[in-house]
Amino acid sequence: MARTIEPDCRQCRREGVKLYLKGERCTSKKCAMERRPVIPGQHGATKRRVTFTEYGTQLREKQKIKRIYGLLENQMRSYYEEAERMKGVTGANMLSLIERRLDNVVYRMGIGASRSQSRQMVNHGLIAVNGRKLDIPSYLVKVGDVISIRENKLDKEPIKALKGMKIVMPKWLEFNTENLTGKILALPVREDVDADIKEQLVIELYSR
Ligand code: SF4
Repeated sequence: MARTIEPDCRQCRREGVKLYLKGERCTSKKCAMERRPVIPGQHGATKRRVTFTEYGTQLREKQKIKRIYGLLENQMRSYYEEAERMKGVTGANMLSLIERRLDNVVYRMGIGASRSQSRQMVNHGLIAVNGRKLDIPSYLVKVGDVISIRENKLDKEPIKALKGMKIVMPKWLEFNTENLTGKILALPVREDVDADIKEQLVIELYSR
């Protein structure tokens, strides 16, 4: 199955919430949800948002998480299945697994401006984990992993701009913008996921 090809801002308008898919633009006045928060399409402005059934609400929530993190259905389901096998609350486990993806970590550390740009950086071999090139966006980071920019990529534009920048990031991560190296300090917990996500709905959907 293909990853969604719907333009980013259209995805937000369809979900009716800001999914933060376009980096800096999302926090500026240019954000399409600030300017025109209606359903996409010719008659979007006059369309009413439908009230979903319980099943429909669960489906939409799953879709929202997939859009935020750029996941395919089989990836989403396998995070759920792994979360269920783990100790603790399945929903929180599932979000923790998704947050640990290398592309998300690169985004959270502020190296990439959006998750899609961060995924590209990983795919293009800009990122090293524990000193070795790692170009697999779905790699799950572990406590103590050291994330860095590969030496031969330090002169790339988005990387040069990082030098000395002040970046706010979740407390489970650290990234030094002087030496462009970061570390995984802990595994993410539910409170570290700031997006407005109701993961319990997805758990109910998968456990039907
Ligand atoms: Fe969504 Fe960002 Fe586009 Fe706003 S700018 S609609 S948050 S992708």
